[in-house]
Amino acid sequence: MSRAYNFCAGPAALPEAVLQRAREEMLDYRGTGMSVMEMSHRDDVIVAMAEQAEKDLRDLMGISDDYAVLFLQGGASAQFAMVPMNLLGDAGRADYINTGQWSSKAIKEARRFGEINVAASSEDRNFTYAPAQSDWRLSDDAAYVHYCPNETIGGLEFDFVPEVDKPLVADMSSTILSRPLDVSRFGLIYAGAQKNIGPAGITVVIVRKDLLGRAGASVPAMMNYQTHAENGSMYNTPPTFAWYLAGLVFQWLKEQGGVDAMGEINRRKADKLYGFIDASGFYSNPVAPTQRSWMNVPFILSDSALDKAFLAEADAAGLRNLKGHRSVGGMRASIYNAVPETAVDALIDFMADFEKRNG
Ligand SMILES: *Cc1c(COP(=O)(O)O)cnc(C)c1O
Repeated sequence: MSRAYNFCAGPAALPEAVLQRAREEMLDYRGTGMSVMEMSHRDDVIVAMAEQAEKDLRDLMGISDDYAVLFLQGGASAQFAMVPMNLLGDAGRADYINTGQWSSKAIKEARRFGEINVAASSEDRNFTYAPAQSDWRLSDDAAYVHYCPNETIGGLEFDFVPEVDKPLVADMSSTILSRPLDVSRFGLIYAGAQKNIGPAGITVVIVRKDLLGRAGASVPAMMNYQTHAENGSMYNTPPTFAWYLAGLVFQWLKEQGGVDAMGEINRRKADKLYGFIDASGFYSNPVAPTQRSWMNVPFILSDSALDKAFLAEADAAGLRNLKGHRSVGGMRASIYNAVPETAVDALIDFMADFEKRNG
């Protein structure tokens, strides 16, 4: 067996140790004689598994009892609708910051439900920076402020947590668990699992409990956070296997030393790769240096005619999924928690060699 270095933006690499553990437990989960996939979600063993995963996530992120932690379906995209459905309330108005494709999608979806004010945008410079908070035009009567701390496609990451007097809502799909975070600054955090948590099919929502119960009567039960909070995210059948794998990832993260240790490793990985790109005259990245994503590193070659050869040769060298998002072209290396530092080293070696031969 040989494992490739996988730089996919999502669904992304999982820790090898987690996959091995899942393989070991596949046919007989903890002496039950069954796979996790084959058991009722009401079974004590599965309820215990689910509770342990929540507890481990709470430990990792320092989530207090003031917050509910929900494990939902529908991906981050469903949250683009659930956030306004649940939080707009009587105000009917919210502020959004537009820093790229994911925040744009969130804005578009929220507009179905209320009046959405784009309080700041970095579209003027092709989403290569995060607008300074002093330039935001927040509304007085907004129910919440939404932003995307890490734009997965543009590779833009906020280097500050906004200070607002309304609940702060963050789409953390591609940055959650990548470094320490003060959860108490947020009203709600959501993240699709398939970047930094586990396999596709499960979505984590961390919501301050006082924000529950604000959905109108027309909001379907499945779209109402309160339903899921009251039922331990088991109102209906949850994606038990994805939840289980997410739990294994949380345990693996704890074994690595938690988000402090991951943050150190991630900083080093990102510094190395951006440092190499900046030192080269052949590769480049357009994002403001202090706001470059630690998780998603887009870059272009000085001559896009070489893109095809770059990708083919990288693939042959075991470096997979480096093609940039279809909307922007170029390259993108996603270097989430599960992508080891050796993968970044191998990528840099390959890039240096390719430049030598083609630069
Ligand atoms: C991947 C991603 C999404 C979309 O996630 P789905 O689970 O496919 O709906 C939304 N926001 C961000 C920041 C993402 O990285």
